[in-house]
Amino acid sequence: MNQDYIIPNDWSIIEEGFDRERVKSSESLFSIGNGAMGQRANFEEQYSGKTFQGSYIAGIYYPDKTKVGWWKNGYPEYFAKVLNAPNWIGIDVEINGEHLDLNTAKAVRHFRRELNMKEGWLSRSFMAQLQNGTEVEVSVLRFLSLELDEVGAIRYQIKPLNQAAKITFKPYVDSGVKNEDANWEETFWEPLDSGYEKDFGFVQARTYKTLYNVVTFMESATFVNGNKQQLTPKYTQTQTKVQLEYELEVQPSHEATLIKFGGYVVSTNHPEGELLSASKGVLKKANEKGFESLLQDQKEAWAKIWEMADITIEGDTKAQQGIRFNIFQLNQTYLGKDARLNIGPKGFTGEKYGGSTYWDTEAYCLPFYMATKDQNVARNLLVYRYNQLDKAIENAQKLGFTNGAALYPMVTMNGEECHNEWEITFEEIHRNGAIAYAIFNYVRYTGDYQYIPEKGLEVLIGIARFWHQRANFSKDKQKYVILGVTGPNEYENNINNNFYTNYIAQWCINYTTEQIQKIEAEYNSDFVRIMNKARLSKSEMAEWKKVADNMYFPYSEELGVYLQQDGFLDKELVPVSELDPSQRPLNQKWSWDRILRSPYIKQADTLQGFYFFEEHFTKKQLEKHFDFYEPLTVHESSLSPCVHSILAAKLGRMEQAYTFYLRTSRLDLDDYNKEVEEGLHITSMAGTWMSIVEGFGGMRVKNDKLYFAPKLPSQWNSFSFKINFRHQILKVNVTKEATIFELDGNRELEVIVNDKAVVITPNNLVKI
Ligand code: BGC
Repeated sequence: MNQDYIIPNDWSIIEEGFDRERVKSSESLFSIGNGAMGQRANFEEQYSGKTFQGSYIAGIYYPDKTKVGWWKNGYPEYFAKVLNAPNWIGIDVEINGEHLDLNTAKAVRHFRRELNMKEGWLSRSFMAQLQNGTEVEVSVLRFLSLELDEVGAIRYQIKPLNQAAKITFKPYVDSGVKNEDANWEETFWEPLDSGYEKDFGFVQARTYKTLYNVVTFMESATFVNGNKQQLTPKYTQTQTKVQLEYELEVQPSHEATLIKFGGYVVSTNHPEGELLSASKGVLKKANEKGFESLLQDQKEAWAKIWEMADITIEGDTKAQQGIRFNIFQLNQTYLGKDARLNIGPKGFTGEKYGGSTYWDTEAYCLPFYMATKDQNVARNLLVYRYNQLDKAIENAQKLGFTNGAALYPMVTMNGEECHNEWEITFEEIHRNGAIAYAIFNYVRYTGDYQYIPEKGLEVLIGIARFWHQRANFSKDKQKYVILGVTGPNEYENNINNNFYTNYIAQWCINYTTEQIQKIEAEYNSDFVRIMNKARLSKSEMAEWKKVADNMYFPYSEELGVYLQQDGFLDKELVPVSELDPSQRPLNQKWSWDRILRSPYIKQADTLQGFYFFEEHFTKKQLEKHFDFYEPLTVHESSLSPCVHSILAAKLGRMEQAYTFYLRTSRLDLDDYNKEVEEGLHITSMAGTWMSIVEGFGGMRVKNDKLYFAPKLPSQWNSFSFKINFRHQILKVNVTKEATIFELDGNRELEVIVNDKAVVITPNNLVKI
């Protein structure tokens, strides 16, 4: 663990005391978002210390021309960068002629930040003594409205303490921003226009290449002791920046306030020619509401989200704070309102990873959205991939596959592959399996089988074709093998017969074949349509079957375990516990070749297979594999500890399950992987949700029924969660004495609890 300065609290993330070294970490941790935009918790006023400025608009990206040392055929032409968007939060402040800057102030006392997750706002307060001797008390509150999701609001208050002060507020908008991560040091925004009028200012800029047109706008109002001031601001204008300037004379202990509304209107949501008027329309709505009632709406909107998504944990504040932080950040990133969007691994909190869609969505995020939102949200996530099937077929064609074989990208914004490291782009093909698994998982959970004939089957066929073509027959082994891959464990590259990849490939072919047979029998007109469109014949399917029936899996008879890949046992299998802790994280301390030769596992790999396909293996087998792989796993991917937590809980190893739970839920809060400055790990946060619901709750869906095997960690007095299961809401509360079910719906529900059937009727508590 790197740091633990976040103060434990059930509903808030709190930091006390100003420490320059923590600024970048806190900028990530206190990030805010509303699904349409989001930003790091940068200060509004100038800050000359170390900072990472970041504000992002959902779906707005730039295709940055690929930069590699040695070009390899098949590399994508570009990497899609999530763009650092124009700054609308900026408010420079001068007090008696000196810039307020926490890096240069003589003293900063009583510094406190709070991210209130219950109500969806961020606050910051402190007392500063400036070099000129003026002492001020400052308090700032900021939120991104869920109701009007193109608008954010800031209330910036300053109270001089020891003398009267001339306070100058300089709110601005600025499109002259750069990405820290830019391959060719280019700027990504072309400035188009800027302007002002009374208290309003805007800059208009367009992304190069992708041509997204964005008006970044602001409007301000000033107050002294709550009384609105009628000031005419001074203006400074360049092509990229518009700044207003308000001067206020403020007596000691009196309070100067600036309210600033700002945000973006974007050509993806408005006609290009109407962006400026759209920005005024948005501001009009915000002004009609006013800061206070917009804040009130914010609290109510978050209350609605929590009503469905909250998980409570009694008796363990750090665990409670962890899960709420995860649920909060997921909802800040993606609300499912806009089917064009997806869930980026860093959400709106940093630049790393680029793109917005990884296998993370299907493998980790889908269950969270299925259970805590309307079913359509999860369906839209599947449709997003369906809409990109043609691109997946093109991606596969670029690599030499034919006949409609589809390879979904490792990283994408629009369906095109844009990752460019050979070992991942070309080799980390297991991602294709997760797209198919998500279809199975969605249908299993929702019962919406109709999705398969409507859309899912076409995707499955493309994926099955890919696996059939990617495997080859080994004369030596008399089996089909899959060579030259990277499994989920990215600390192994170009390996042969990764167990997880081979297993999911076999499963994809078998599952697709079963669905084709079912559609033929039960949805015949869809069958004819799809078979004609895909030009799929029975003889091609027979070829697929040969591959699936004869897939090779590396196995050690002696150990009774499937091997992560061919030759895994040649490694020196020294457990992680024997590594010198100063050597970790390995990816920051060791050369890459040393990592590749070592047995250390970045994230669940073989165990990912045991998690997805648990019904295919016995508990004894799971135990053996867990005992073999867990000691070699370094969990340097955020996606790892959650899977280990779920499996440990299944094995009844509650202490281990709890440790992994803390690690997944507080990965960023406590900065386990020493990289929180770069941004948060949003997608793995859904894995944290799974580790409670599927791990400690033991929830599964089998044959259209919910199963539970609740287990309470000894550190907790109780925990509870809610799920939306087939249009009814089931609340599950696990206490030391019993598990209590409550159903909000209109028909009874039979669930299986610890192997016993229990019928729950709506609005009746059932205790077991
Ligand atoms: C993991 C991948 C994951 C990516 C984005 C990497 O560190 O190894 O599995 O898709 O992060 O979260």
